[in-house]
Amino acid sequence: MARRYWLGGALVAAILAASSAGAQRSQPAPASPRIYVFENGTITGLDPALFNFRREELKQVDFVNMAYLIVHPRGTLMFDAGAVPDSHFKGDGSPVVEGVVTATKPLLPQLVAAGYSPSEVTYFALSHFHSDHTGNANEFAQATWIVQKEERDYMFADSPQGIIQPATYAALRNAETKLLNNEDFDVFGDGSVVVMATPGHTPGHQVVAVKLANRGAVVLAGDLYHYPEERTTGRIPTFEFDPEKSKVSRARIEKYVEDNDAELWIEHDVATHAALPKSPRYID
Ligand SMILES: [Zn+2]
Repeated sequence: MARRYWLGGALVAAILAASSAGAQRSQPAPASPRIYVFENGTITGLDPALFNFRREELKQVDFVNMAYLIVHPRGTLMFDAGAVPDSHFKGDGSPVVEGVVTATKPLLPQLVAAGYSPSEVTYFALSHFHSDHTGNANEFAQATWIVQKEERDYMFADSPQGIIQPATYAALRNAETKLLNNEDFDVFGDGSVVVMATPGHTPGHQVVAVKLANRGAVVLAGDLYHYPEERTTGRIPTFEFDPEKSKVSRARIEKYVEDNDAELWIEHDVATHAALPKSPRYID
């Protein structure tokens, strides 16, 4: 593992060095917000019963794993961090398979290709602490971490249970932190990028609402839903932290979507992301 780690680290270090040498300079701040979409791979072999569905009720059972960088005139917000740490890649282009997760591309090189190094990221937020979202969270410990208090308390409890890999986010413990008490946070102060508290899937699940000048409003929905069919049937996964809170959070976000004529991007939805340009292209 040490050798793999070194190889993965060397790959990223080489790209970062190219960046600071001017081959890939950081982008000038754009005039309006942009979203970069990063691909982290897939989750396959899931049992639809976990989500209270029968196989034939779902168009697509498999998941994609995505992460996003929101670039605003006044800074950047990284949302989620992939399923597999970049250090697990061998550096030879081969995918990493860990259980149901297949990671096709390391995350940081995609970020660097968009023109941003992890140390330049202003804010970092997780939709929630499940391990398919925290893979590279440690890389963003220099950013200001936006987190709900109940979520953070769970993450740093003595022995947190569930779909959780504390080693992948341990560095956040000492990050500068914007601690929220089940509340929203207008990240850049102009209403265009808002972290919204949506508890239920986990104690402090969050989504991000972004107002784009051209495309309009978009909600990065994390795991508020896993399948589009959850929106139409109202079904809730079997492993929600608090199903009643999930229902309230979903109703609140559906109202936001309605009021703002917003798109809702379910982070694991294959069809949604197949239709989106991927970094270094962006959506604005
Ligand atoms: Zn997930």
